[in-house]
Amino acid sequence: MLDQARKVLQQVYGYPEFRAGQVSIITNLLEGRDTLGIMPTGGGKSICYQVPALLMDGVTLVISPLISLMKDQVDALGALGVPATYINSTLEAREVEQRMQGAMQGKYKLLYIAPERLESERFRARMAALKLPLVAIDEAHCVSQWGHDFRPSYVGIAPFIRSLPERPIVAAFTATATEEVTADIARLLELDGAGIFVNGFSRDNLELTILRGENKRDYIGKYVAGHTHQPGIIYAATRKDVEELYELLRKKGFAAGKYHAGLTDDERSYMQEAFLYDDIRVMIATNAFGMGIDKSNVRYVIHYNMPKNMEAYYQEAGRAGRDGEPSECILLFSAQDIMTQKFLIEQNQLTPERKANEYKKLQTMIDYCYSPRCLRNFILHYFGEVEVKDTCGNCSSCKDDRDSVDITVEAQKIFSCIRRMNERFGISMVASVLKGSRAKKIMDYRFDRLPTHGIMSQLPEKEIAELINVLISEGFLQLSEGQYPVVRLLQPAAEVLQGRLPVYQKVRRQPVRTAAAVD
Ligand code: ADP
Ligand code: ZN
Repeated sequence: MLDQARKVLQQVYGYPEFRAGQVSIITNLLEGRDTLGIMPTGGGKSICYQVPALLMDGVTLVISPLISLMKDQVDALGALGVPATYINSTLEAREVEQRMQGAMQGKYKLLYIAPERLESERFRARMAALKLPLVAIDEAHCVSQWGHDFRPSYVGIAPFIRSLPERPIVAAFTATATEEVTADIARLLELDGAGIFVNGFSRDNLELTILRGENKRDYIGKYVAGHTHQPGIIYAATRKDVEELYELLRKKGFAAGKYHAGLTDDERSYMQEAFLYDDIRVMIATNAFGMGIDKSNVRYVIHYNMPKNMEAYYQEAGRAGRDGEPSECILLFSAQDIMTQKFLIEQNQLTPERKANEYKKLQTMIDYCYSPRCLRNFILHYFGEVEVKDTCGNCSSCKDDRDSVDITVEAQKIFSCIRRMNERFGISMVASVLKGSRAKKIMDYRFDRLPTHGIMSQLPEKEIAELINVLISEGFLQLSEGQYPVVRLLQPAAEVLQGRLPVYQKVRRQPVRTAAAVD
Protein backbone atom coordinates (compact mmCIF):
# COMPACT_ATOMS: atom_id res chain seq x y z
CA MET A 1 0.00 0.00 0.00
CA LEU A 2 2.87 2.31 0.80
CA ASP A 3 4.25 1.62 -2.68
CA GLN A 4 1.07 2.97 -4.19
CA ALA A 5 1.29 6.01 -1.96
CA ARG A 6 4.87 6.60 -3.04
CA LYS A 7 3.82 6.36 -6.67
CA VAL A 8 1.21 9.08 -6.05
CA LEU A 9 3.84 11.23 -4.34
CA GLN A 10 6.19 10.90 -7.30
CA GLN A 11 3.64 11.18 -10.09
CA VAL A 12 1.39 13.88 -8.65
CA TYR A 13 3.75 15.95 -6.51
CA GLY A 14 7.04 15.12 -8.14
CA TYR A 15 8.80 14.39 -4.84
CA PRO A 16 11.05 11.33 -4.82
CA GLU A 17 10.44 10.20 -1.23
CA PHE A 18 8.26 10.78 1.81
CA ARG A 19 9.75 12.52 4.78
CA ALA A 20 10.32 10.15 7.69
CA GLY A 21 7.29 11.40 9.61
CA GLN A 22 4.92 11.18 6.70
CA VAL A 23 5.38 7.47 6.18
CA SER A 24 4.05 6.44 9.57
CA ILE A 25 1.02 8.73 9.39
CA ILE A 26 0.08 7.71 5.86
CA THR A 27 0.53 4.02 6.63
CA ASN A 28 -1.66 4.34 9.70
CA LEU A 29 -4.40 6.08 7.73
CA LEU A 30 -4.25 3.65 4.84
CA GLU A 31 -4.61 0.81 7.34
CA GLY A 32 -7.86 2.45 8.39
CA ARG A 33 -6.94 3.88 11.78
CA ASP A 34 -7.66 7.30 13.25
CA THR A 35 -4.52 9.36 13.47
CA LEU A 36 -3.31 12.35 15.41
CA GLY A 37 -0.34 13.97 13.72
CA ILE A 38 1.64 16.46 15.76
CA MET A 39 3.68 18.45 13.31
CA PRO A 40 5.07 21.97 13.25
CA THR A 41 4.23 24.56 10.63
CA GLY A 42 5.96 23.58 7.44
CA GLY A 43 6.38 20.02 8.63
CA GLY A 44 4.59 18.65 5.59
CA LYS A 45 1.21 17.61 6.96
CA SER A 46 -0.83 18.41 3.83
CA ILE A 47 0.65 15.44 2.02
CA CYS A 48 -0.21 13.22 4.99
CA TYR A 49 -3.92 13.49 4.22
CA GLN A 50 -3.85 14.42 0.54
CA VAL A 51 -2.04 11.29 -0.59
CA PRO A 52 -4.44 8.93 1.28
CA ALA A 53 -7.33 11.02 -0.08
CA LEU A 54 -6.14 10.27 -3.60
CA LEU A 55 -5.97 6.56 -2.84
CA MET A 56 -9.44 6.32 -1.29
CA ASP A 57 -12.82 6.12 -2.95
CA GLY A 58 -14.97 9.22 -2.51
CA VAL A 59 -14.24 12.73 -1.33
CA THR A 60 -12.09 13.67 1.66
CA LEU A 61 -13.45 16.47 3.82
CA VAL A 62 -10.78 18.86 5.11
CA ILE A 63 -11.81 21.06 8.03
CA SER A 64 -9.60 24.11 8.52
CA PRO A 65 -10.11 27.44 10.31
CA LEU A 66 -7.77 29.19 7.91
CA ILE A 67 -10.16 30.52 5.29
CA SER A 68 -7.46 32.66 3.74
CA LEU A 69 -5.38 29.59 2.94
CA MET A 70 -8.13 27.45 1.42
CA LYS A 71 -8.07 29.09 -1.96
CA ASP A 72 -4.28 28.82 -2.19
CA GLN A 73 -4.38 25.17 -1.26
CA VAL A 74 -7.13 24.36 -3.68
CA ASP A 75 -5.35 26.28 -6.45
CA ALA A 76 -2.12 24.46 -5.69
CA LEU A 77 -3.92 21.11 -5.90
CA GLY A 78 -5.55 22.21 -9.14
CA ALA A 79 -2.12 22.99 -10.58
CA LEU A 80 -1.08 19.42 -9.75
CA GLY A 81 -4.16 18.12 -11.51
CA VAL A 82 -5.97 17.13 -8.33
CA PRO A 83 -9.67 18.04 -8.38
CA ALA A 84 -10.40 19.96 -5.18
CA THR A 85 -12.61 22.79 -4.03
CA TYR A 86 -13.61 24.76 -0.97
CA ILE A 87 -16.82 26.06 0.48
CA ASN A 88 -16.65 29.01 2.84
CA SER A 89 -18.16 32.35 3.72
CA THR A 90 -16.29 34.20 0.97
CA LEU A 91 -18.51 32.55 -1.66
CA GLU A 92 -21.95 33.57 -2.82
CA ALA A 93 -24.86 31.22 -2.21
CA ARG A 94 -25.06 30.27 -5.87
CA GLU A 95 -21.40 29.33 -5.98
CA VAL A 96 -21.77 27.28 -2.80
CA GLU A 97 -24.67 25.42 -4.35
CA GLN A 98 -22.71 24.71 -7.51
CA ARG A 99 -19.79 23.30 -5.59
CA MET A 100 -22.11 21.18 -3.44
CA GLN A 101 -23.65 19.76 -6.59
CA GLY A 102 -20.18 19.08 -7.90
CA ALA A 103 -19.28 17.22 -4.72
CA MET A 104 -22.46 15.11 -5.02
CA GLN A 105 -21.49 14.23 -8.58
CA GLY A 106 -18.10 13.06 -7.40
CA LYS A 107 -16.19 15.84 -9.12
CA TYR A 108 -13.72 16.41 -6.30
CA LYS A 109 -11.24 14.34 -4.33
CA LEU A 110 -10.91 16.97 -1.60
CA LEU A 111 -13.39 19.42 -0.17
CA TYR A 112 -12.16 22.15 2.20
CA ILE A 113 -14.53 23.77 4.68
CA ALA A 114 -14.37 25.95 7.77
CA PRO A 115 -15.78 24.29 10.92
CA GLU A 116 -18.70 26.74 11.08
CA ARG A 117 -20.09 25.14 7.95
CA LEU A 118 -21.03 22.08 10.01
CA GLU A 119 -23.60 24.19 11.83
CA SER A 120 -25.71 24.16 8.66
CA GLU A 121 -28.18 21.29 8.75
CA ARG A 122 -28.49 21.38 5.00
CA PHE A 123 -24.75 20.92 4.64
CA ARG A 124 -24.71 18.03 7.11
CA ALA A 125 -27.51 16.29 5.24
CA ARG A 126 -25.58 16.63 1.99
CA MET A 127 -22.47 15.18 3.57
CA ALA A 128 -24.44 12.22 4.87
CA ALA A 129 -25.37 11.41 1.28
CA LEU A 130 -21.74 11.42 0.09
CA LYS A 131 -19.09 8.77 0.22
CA LEU A 132 -16.72 10.26 2.81
CA PRO A 133 -13.82 7.91 3.50
CA LEU A 134 -11.65 10.41 5.38
CA VAL A 135 -12.07 13.57 7.41
CA ALA A 136 -8.92 15.64 7.96
CA ILE A 137 -8.96 18.23 10.72
CA ASP A 138 -6.36 20.96 10.65
CA GLU A 139 -5.38 23.01 13.74
CA ALA A 140 -7.07 20.35 15.84
CA HIS A 141 -6.01 22.01 19.11
CA CYS A 142 -8.80 24.53 18.49
CA VAL A 143 -11.16 21.93 20.03
CA SER A 144 -9.40 22.16 23.38
CA GLN A 145 -9.92 24.81 26.01
CA TRP A 146 -6.31 24.16 26.99
CA GLY A 147 -5.10 25.25 23.60
CA HIS A 148 -4.35 28.81 22.69
CA ASP A 149 -7.18 29.29 20.19
CA PHE A 150 -10.27 27.51 21.37
CA ARG A 151 -13.03 27.62 18.74
CA PRO A 152 -16.53 26.62 19.79
CA SER A 153 -17.34 25.41 16.28
CA TYR A 154 -14.77 22.63 16.66
CA VAL A 155 -16.93 21.07 19.32
CA GLY A 156 -19.45 20.27 16.59
CA ILE A 157 -17.04 18.09 14.65
CA ALA A 158 -17.37 14.90 16.70
CA PRO A 159 -21.22 14.89 16.70
CA PHE A 160 -21.12 15.51 12.95
CA ILE A 161 -18.85 12.54 12.36
CA ARG A 162 -20.97 10.40 14.67
CA SER A 163 -24.06 11.31 12.66
CA LEU A 164 -22.68 10.04 9.36
CA PRO A 165 -24.12 6.76 8.10
CA GLU A 166 -20.65 5.29 7.74
CA ARG A 167 -17.90 6.44 10.05
CA PRO A 168 -14.95 7.89 8.12
CA ILE A 169 -11.35 7.62 9.23
CA VAL A 170 -10.32 10.75 11.10
CA ALA A 171 -6.95 12.42 10.69
CA ALA A 172 -6.33 15.31 13.08
CA PHE A 173 -3.31 17.60 12.92
CA THR A 174 -1.86 20.14 15.30
CA ALA A 175 1.45 21.74 16.18
CA THR A 176 0.62 21.76 19.89
CA ALA A 177 2.01 18.84 21.77
CA THR A 178 1.33 19.30 25.46
CA GLU A 179 -0.25 16.32 27.18
CA GLU A 180 -3.38 18.22 28.20
CA VAL A 181 -4.04 19.27 24.63
CA THR A 182 -3.31 15.93 22.98
CA ALA A 183 -5.52 14.13 25.48
CA ASP A 184 -8.28 16.67 24.88
CA ILE A 185 -8.06 16.35 21.11
CA ALA A 186 -8.30 12.56 21.23
CA ARG A 187 -11.24 12.72 23.64
CA LEU A 188 -13.22 15.60 22.14
CA LEU A 189 -12.79 14.52 18.53
CA GLU A 190 -13.62 10.97 19.64
CA LEU A 191 -10.58 9.56 17.90
CA ASP A 192 -10.84 5.84 17.93
CA GLY A 193 -7.70 4.36 19.49
CA ALA A 194 -5.77 6.94 17.55
CA GLY A 195 -2.13 6.50 16.71
CA ILE A 196 -0.29 9.62 17.81
CA PHE A 197 2.67 10.64 15.70
CA VAL A 198 5.03 13.41 16.60
CA ASN A 199 7.01 14.40 13.59
CA GLY A 200 8.83 16.98 11.60
CA PHE A 201 9.94 19.16 14.49
CA SER A 202 13.50 18.83 13.41
CA ARG A 203 13.75 21.59 10.85
CA ASP A 204 17.37 21.11 9.98
CA ASN A 205 17.62 24.19 7.80
CA LEU A 206 16.81 26.46 10.74
CA GLU A 207 19.75 27.81 12.69
CA LEU A 208 18.51 28.47 16.22
CA THR A 209 20.18 31.24 18.17
CA ILE A 210 19.55 32.74 21.58
CA LEU A 211 21.21 36.01 22.47
CA ARG A 212 21.16 37.29 26.02
CA GLY A 213 22.19 40.73 27.15
CA GLU A 214 22.23 42.33 23.67
CA ASN A 215 21.20 45.92 23.11
CA LYS A 216 18.14 44.77 21.19
CA ARG A 217 17.48 47.89 19.12
CA ASP A 218 21.08 48.17 18.00
CA TYR A 219 21.13 44.52 17.14
CA ILE A 220 17.97 44.76 15.01
CA GLY A 221 19.28 47.83 13.20
CA LYS A 222 22.52 46.08 12.30
CA TYR A 223 20.92 42.79 11.43
CA VAL A 224 18.34 44.27 9.08
CA ALA A 225 21.05 46.43 7.45
CA GLY A 226 22.94 43.24 6.69
CA HIS A 227 19.87 41.48 5.24
CA THR A 228 18.10 44.18 3.22
CA HIS A 229 17.29 41.89 0.32
CA GLN A 230 15.91 39.02 2.29
CA PRO A 231 12.39 38.64 3.62
CA GLY A 232 12.24 38.44 7.39
CA ILE A 233 9.85 38.76 10.31
CA ILE A 234 10.53 40.44 13.64
CA TYR A 235 8.10 39.49 16.38
CA ALA A 236 7.64 41.85 19.31
CA ALA A 237 5.46 41.35 22.40
CA THR A 238 3.46 44.58 22.30
CA ARG A 239 1.98 46.98 19.75
CA LYS A 240 4.11 49.71 21.25
CA ASP A 241 7.31 47.79 20.54
CA VAL A 242 6.11 47.08 17.00
CA GLU A 243 5.46 50.76 16.37
CA GLU A 244 8.82 51.81 17.79
CA LEU A 245 10.82 49.29 15.79
CA TYR A 246 8.84 50.14 12.69
CA GLU A 247 9.70 53.84 13.08
CA LEU A 248 13.32 52.99 13.77
CA LEU A 249 13.68 50.89 10.63
CA ARG A 250 11.69 53.25 8.41
CA LYS A 251 13.92 56.13 9.52
CA LYS A 252 16.93 54.12 8.47
CA GLY A 253 15.30 53.72 5.08
CA PHE A 254 14.48 50.01 5.17
CA ALA A 255 11.46 48.50 3.43
CA ALA A 256 9.71 47.71 6.70
CA GLY A 257 6.08 46.91 7.39
CA LYS A 258 4.08 46.50 10.57
CA TYR A 259 1.24 44.28 11.66
CA HIS A 260 -0.78 44.17 14.85
CA ALA A 261 -4.37 44.01 16.02
CA GLY A 262 -4.52 47.80 16.41
CA LEU A 263 -4.43 48.38 12.65
CA THR A 264 -7.55 48.49 10.47
CA ASP A 265 -8.45 45.47 8.34
CA ASP A 266 -7.38 47.39 5.25
CA GLU A 267 -4.01 48.31 6.71
CA ARG A 268 -3.42 44.75 7.75
CA SER A 269 -4.25 43.22 4.40
CA TYR A 270 -2.17 45.89 2.65
CA MET A 271 0.85 45.01 4.82
CA GLN A 272 0.35 41.29 4.37
CA GLU A 273 0.12 41.56 0.58
CA ALA A 274 3.11 43.88 0.38
CA PHE A 275 5.14 41.37 2.38
CA LEU A 276 3.97 38.47 0.25
CA TYR A 277 5.06 40.27 -2.91
CA ASP A 278 8.37 41.46 -1.43
CA ASP A 279 7.52 45.18 -1.49
CA ILE A 280 8.08 44.97 2.24
CA ARG A 281 11.21 43.06 3.20
CA VAL A 282 10.99 43.02 6.95
CA MET A 283 7.69 42.73 8.78
CA ILE A 284 7.56 43.86 12.39
CA ALA A 285 4.60 42.23 14.04
CA THR A 286 2.90 40.97 17.13
CA ASN A 287 1.82 37.34 17.27
CA ALA A 288 -1.33 38.44 15.39
CA PHE A 289 0.76 38.02 12.24
CA GLY A 290 1.29 34.64 10.74
CA MET A 291 -1.79 32.43 11.07
CA GLY A 292 -2.60 32.07 7.46
CA ILE A 293 0.38 33.61 5.74
CA ASP A 294 2.11 31.25 3.43
CA LYS A 295 5.42 32.73 2.39
CA SER A 296 8.00 30.06 1.92
CA ASN A 297 11.17 32.14 1.50
CA VAL A 298 11.27 33.93 4.86
CA ARG A 299 15.01 33.91 5.60
CA TYR A 300 14.93 34.98 9.22
CA VAL A 301 12.58 35.30 12.18
CA ILE A 302 13.81 37.42 15.05
CA HIS A 303 12.04 37.45 18.38
CA TYR A 304 12.50 40.85 19.96
CA ASN A 305 11.04 39.38 23.16
CA MET A 306 10.75 35.93 24.61
CA PRO A 307 7.29 34.51 23.74
CA LYS A 308 4.99 33.02 26.34
CA ASN A 309 5.73 29.36 25.66
CA MET A 310 7.55 26.90 23.43
CA GLU A 311 4.53 26.22 21.23
CA ALA A 312 4.13 29.90 20.43
CA TYR A 313 7.86 30.26 19.90
CA TYR A 314 8.30 27.37 17.55
CA GLN A 315 5.18 28.17 15.59
CA GLU A 316 6.48 31.67 14.93
CA ALA A 317 10.12 30.73 14.42
CA GLY A 318 8.95 27.92 12.11
CA ARG A 319 7.67 30.48 9.60
CA ALA A 320 11.29 30.86 8.52
CA GLY A 321 12.65 28.63 5.80
CA ARG A 322 9.59 26.70 4.76
CA ASP A 323 11.28 26.24 1.39
CA GLY A 324 14.00 24.22 3.09
CA GLU A 325 16.75 26.78 2.47
CA PRO A 326 19.06 27.80 5.34
CA SER A 327 17.34 30.36 7.56
CA GLU A 328 17.94 31.96 10.93
CA CYS A 329 15.76 32.03 14.04
CA ILE A 330 17.11 34.46 16.59
CA LEU A 331 15.64 35.03 20.03
CA LEU A 332 16.74 38.19 21.84
CA PHE A 333 16.26 37.49 25.51
CA SER A 334 16.31 39.73 28.52
CA ALA A 335 15.13 39.15 32.07
CA GLN A 336 12.57 41.89 31.50
CA ASP A 337 10.77 39.53 29.10
CA ILE A 338 10.02 37.25 32.04
CA MET A 339 8.33 40.12 33.83
CA THR A 340 6.29 41.02 30.74
CA GLN A 341 5.02 37.48 30.28
CA LYS A 342 4.13 37.15 33.97
CA PHE A 343 2.28 40.42 33.79
CA LEU A 344 0.33 39.14 30.79
CA ILE A 345 -0.56 35.92 32.61
CA GLU A 346 -1.75 37.87 35.64
CA GLN A 347 -3.84 40.15 33.43
CA ASN A 348 -5.87 37.27 32.02
CA GLN A 349 -8.75 36.11 34.13
CA LEU A 350 -7.70 32.50 34.42
CA THR A 351 -8.78 29.74 36.73
CA PRO A 352 -6.03 28.83 39.24
CA GLU A 353 -5.48 25.59 37.34
CA ARG A 354 -5.02 27.34 33.99
CA LYS A 355 -2.80 29.95 35.54
CA ALA A 356 -0.51 27.32 37.03
CA ASN A 357 -0.36 25.68 33.62
CA GLU A 358 0.62 28.96 31.93
CA TYR A 359 3.36 29.51 34.50
CA LYS A 360 4.66 26.00 33.96
CA LYS A 361 4.88 26.55 30.22
CA LEU A 362 6.51 29.92 30.69
CA GLN A 363 9.11 28.29 32.90
CA THR A 364 10.04 25.83 30.15
CA MET A 365 10.41 28.76 27.77
CA ILE A 366 12.76 30.44 30.27
CA ASP A 367 14.70 27.22 30.67
CA TYR A 368 15.12 27.10 26.92
CA CYS A 369 16.52 30.62 26.88
CA TYR A 370 19.13 29.63 29.46
CA SER A 371 19.82 26.17 28.23
CA PRO A 372 23.46 25.35 27.54
CA ARG A 373 22.17 22.21 25.74
CA CYS A 374 21.75 21.85 22.01
CA LEU A 375 18.65 23.97 21.29
CA ARG A 376 17.32 21.71 18.58
CA ASN A 377 17.50 18.72 20.91
CA PHE A 378 15.77 20.76 23.59
CA ILE A 379 12.90 21.40 21.17
CA LEU A 380 12.68 17.83 19.92
CA HIS A 381 12.67 16.61 23.48
CA TYR A 382 9.99 19.07 24.50
CA PHE A 383 7.67 18.19 21.66
CA GLY A 384 8.26 14.51 22.28
CA GLU A 385 9.74 13.68 18.90
CA VAL A 386 10.83 10.07 19.01
CA GLU A 387 14.00 10.19 17.05
CA VAL A 388 16.26 12.62 18.83
CA LYS A 389 19.56 12.82 17.05
CA ASP A 390 22.95 13.91 18.27
CA THR A 391 23.58 17.58 18.89
CA CYS A 392 22.88 19.62 15.77
CA GLY A 393 26.12 21.58 15.47
CA ASN A 394 24.09 24.47 14.09
CA CYS A 395 22.60 26.29 17.10
CA SER A 396 24.03 28.91 19.43
CA SER A 397 24.65 26.30 22.14
CA CYS A 398 26.44 23.94 19.78
CA LYS A 399 28.45 26.79 18.28
CA ASP A 400 29.48 28.32 21.59
CA ASP A 401 33.13 27.40 22.00
CA ARG A 402 33.44 28.83 25.49
CA ASP A 403 33.67 26.56 28.48
CA SER A 404 30.68 26.12 30.73
CA VAL A 405 31.47 26.21 34.41
CA ASP A 406 28.91 24.94 36.89
CA ILE A 407 28.30 27.74 39.40
CA THR A 408 25.12 26.31 40.91
CA VAL A 409 26.50 26.19 44.47
CA GLU A 410 27.78 29.77 44.35
CA ALA A 411 24.44 30.90 42.92
CA GLN A 412 22.56 29.09 45.72
CA LYS A 413 24.68 30.82 48.36
CA ILE A 414 24.00 34.21 46.81
CA PHE A 415 20.24 33.63 46.38
CA SER A 416 19.91 32.30 49.90
CA CYS A 417 21.71 35.33 51.32
CA ILE A 418 19.52 37.75 49.36
CA ARG A 419 16.40 35.97 50.60
CA ARG A 420 17.59 36.09 54.21
CA MET A 421 18.23 39.83 53.82
CA ASN A 422 14.58 40.10 52.73
CA GLU A 423 15.48 41.32 49.23
CA ARG A 424 15.92 44.87 50.50
CA PHE A 425 19.59 45.63 49.75
CA GLY A 426 21.87 46.43 46.87
CA ILE A 427 24.66 44.43 45.28
CA SER A 428 27.55 45.69 47.43
CA MET A 429 25.72 45.08 50.71
CA VAL A 430 24.89 41.49 49.69
CA ALA A 431 28.49 40.93 48.61
CA SER A 432 29.79 42.26 51.96
CA VAL A 433 27.57 39.91 53.93
CA LEU A 434 28.69 36.93 51.84
CA LYS A 435 32.30 38.01 52.30
CA GLY A 436 31.76 38.15 56.08
CA SER A 437 32.36 41.85 56.61
CA ARG A 438 31.88 43.21 60.14
CA ALA A 439 31.33 46.82 59.03
CA LYS A 440 29.08 48.94 61.23
CA LYS A 441 26.09 48.86 58.87
CA ILE A 442 26.20 45.09 58.78
CA MET A 443 26.43 44.79 62.56
CA ASP A 444 23.56 47.31 62.91
CA TYR A 445 21.32 45.09 60.84
CA ARG A 446 22.68 42.03 62.70
CA PHE A 447 23.55 40.41 59.40
CA ASP A 448 26.60 38.87 61.09
CA ARG A 449 24.11 36.44 62.64
CA LEU A 450 22.82 35.19 59.29
CA PRO A 451 23.94 31.67 58.38
CA THR A 452 25.04 33.07 55.03
CA HIS A 453 27.38 35.61 56.63
CA GLY A 454 30.89 34.82 55.43
CA ILE A 455 30.00 31.71 53.42
CA MET A 456 31.92 33.08 50.43
CA SER A 457 34.81 34.49 52.40
CA GLN A 458 37.36 32.71 50.20
CA LEU A 459 36.50 35.05 47.26
CA PRO A 460 37.40 38.73 46.95
CA GLU A 461 34.34 40.92 47.53
CA LYS A 462 34.70 42.34 44.03
CA GLU A 463 34.38 38.89 42.49
CA ILE A 464 31.27 38.15 44.53
CA ALA A 465 29.74 41.37 43.23
CA GLU A 466 30.65 40.37 39.68
CA LEU A 467 28.95 37.02 40.12
CA ILE A 468 25.82 38.81 41.29
CA ASN A 469 25.95 40.90 38.14
CA VAL A 470 26.26 37.79 36.00
CA LEU A 471 23.19 36.33 37.73
CA ILE A 472 21.30 39.55 37.01
CA SER A 473 22.20 39.54 33.34
CA GLU A 474 21.22 35.89 33.15
CA GLY A 475 17.77 36.71 34.53
CA PHE A 476 17.97 34.99 37.92
CA LEU A 477 18.00 38.25 39.80
CA GLN A 478 16.56 41.63 39.15
CA LEU A 479 17.67 45.10 40.16
CA SER A 480 14.88 47.43 41.19
CA GLU A 481 14.75 50.85 39.60
CA GLY A 482 15.52 54.06 41.40
CA GLN A 483 18.49 55.62 43.11
CA TYR A 484 19.30 52.76 45.41
CA PRO A 485 18.53 49.64 43.44
CA VAL A 486 17.98 46.51 45.50
CA VAL A 487 18.54 42.96 44.27
CA ARG A 488 15.52 40.70 44.16
CA LEU A 489 15.07 37.05 43.29
CA LEU A 490 13.29 36.06 40.09
CA GLN A 491 11.44 32.79 39.58
CA PRO A 492 14.44 30.92 38.10
CA ALA A 493 16.37 31.64 41.32
CA ALA A 494 13.74 29.78 43.32
CA GLU A 495 14.19 26.81 41.00
CA VAL A 496 17.93 26.94 41.60
CA LEU A 497 17.45 27.05 45.37
CA GLN A 498 15.23 23.99 45.16
CA GLY A 499 17.94 22.21 43.21
CA ARG A 500 15.82 21.96 40.09
CA LEU A 501 17.84 24.21 37.82
CA PRO A 502 21.61 24.24 37.44
CA VAL A 503 23.48 27.45 36.71
CA TYR A 504 26.34 27.65 34.26
CA GLN A 505 28.64 30.47 33.53
CA LYS A 506 30.31 30.68 30.17
CA VAL A 507 33.94 31.65 30.50
CA ARG A 508 36.55 32.29 27.87
CA ARG A 509 38.97 29.45 27.73
CA GLN A 510 42.23 30.44 29.38
CA PRO A 511 44.93 30.61 26.73
CA VAL A 512 47.38 27.82 27.34
CA ARG A 513 50.48 29.39 28.81
CA THR A 514 53.83 28.37 27.53
CA ALA A 515 56.64 27.83 29.99
CA ALA A 516 58.32 31.02 28.86
CA ALA A 517 55.25 33.11 29.51
CA VAL A 518 54.98 31.84 33.08
CA ASP A 519 58.36 33.22 34.09
P1 ADP B 1 2.32 22.23 6.69
O1 ADP B 1 0.97 22.11 6.08
O2 ADP B 1 2.64 21.16 7.67
O3 ADP B 1 2.62 23.61 7.23
P2 ADP B 1 3.12 21.69 4.05
O4 ADP B 1 2.31 20.49 3.90
O5 ADP B 1 2.70 22.95 3.37
O6 ADP B 1 3.37 22.00 5.55
O7 ADP B 1 4.60 21.33 3.59
C1 ADP B 1 5.65 22.25 3.72
C2 ADP B 1 6.54 22.19 2.48
O8 ADP B 1 7.22 20.95 2.38
C3 ADP B 1 5.73 22.32 1.20
O9 ADP B 1 6.43 23.17 0.31
C4 ADP B 1 5.67 20.90 0.68
O10 ADP B 1 5.50 20.85 -0.71
C5 ADP B 1 7.02 20.35 1.11
N1 ADP B 1 6.99 18.88 1.26
C6 ADP B 1 6.13 18.15 1.99
N2 ADP B 1 6.41 16.83 1.90
C7 ADP B 1 7.49 16.71 1.11
C8 ADP B 1 8.28 15.60 0.64
N3 ADP B 1 8.01 14.33 0.97
N4 ADP B 1 9.34 15.86 -0.14
C9 ADP B 1 9.64 17.14 -0.48
N5 ADP B 1 8.94 18.23 -0.09
C10 ADP B 1 7.88 18.03 0.71
ZN1 ZN C 1 22.58 22.31 18.53
